[in-house]
Amino acid sequence: MSVSIATASCGVCARLTGRRTRLALSLVPQATRRSSSPAAGFGARPSLDAAPAAPSPIAFESPLSICLYPDPRLRAVNKRIVKFDESVRRLAEEMMEVMYDDDGVGLAAPQVGVNVQMMVFNPEGERGRGTEYVLCNPRVVKTGKNREFDEEGCLSFPGVRGDVERYAAIRVEAQDERGDAVTLTLKDPWLARIFQHEFDHLEGVLFHDRMEEKWLAKNTDALEKLVDEYQGDKQKVAL
Ligand SMILES: [Zn+2]
Repeated sequence: MSVSIATASCGVCARLTGRRTRLALSLVPQATRRSSSPAAGFGARPSLDAAPAAPSPIAFESPLSICLYPDPRLRAVNKRIVKFDESVRRLAEEMMEVMYDDDGVGLAAPQVGVNVQMMVFNPEGERGRGTEYVLCNPRVVKTGKNREFDEEGCLSFPGVRGDVERYAAIRVEAQDERGDAVTLTLKDPWLARIFQHEFDHLEGVLFHDRMEEKWLAKNTDALEKLVDEYQGDKQKVAL
């Protein structure tokens, strides 16, 4: 399957602006941030080939719930999906439900504590509207030349938002929930941005890793609040 998405009108983008505060995003000292370039993690992506295979069926508990920063599962290795059984399709469906219920436009499996290479998104963010995407084992095969800053939020980072630089267009190869090959040419900057945000999650990269210092500074209190409220094993949290 090959899908090409045309550039959306300004009106569509403007309508979506209000949702951007909920689009996926996390604070870490500068020295420990994983990357500062929008290109980091893209390209041949040797990490995917090196990633271990996910078990089959994929185990998860329903209902799914969102992992909040600094949950260590947001930084863990995400395993390749190699067997496309019913558990893959059920996980995709349940992730889509969580995404809609939380007013998001995209969600990556590690955000619900399932460390496998799967993301779901719908640029409209509403059931019955827009196009739903389920991408497994995605790779970025080409990027455009233009990069743009725009505001993002993240369901794993309530209260945190800031500008992040992303490629305005991107070409992606992946598999759908049945294991069929998918090629997407994302020419809509909003759609390309959503994909890149979720792709980063699959690489263990969080949106505040890519924020400039001024945005990190603005979000310091919100990030520290998340760390303070985190109930997990703080000894294992890599800030
Ligand atoms: Zn996110």
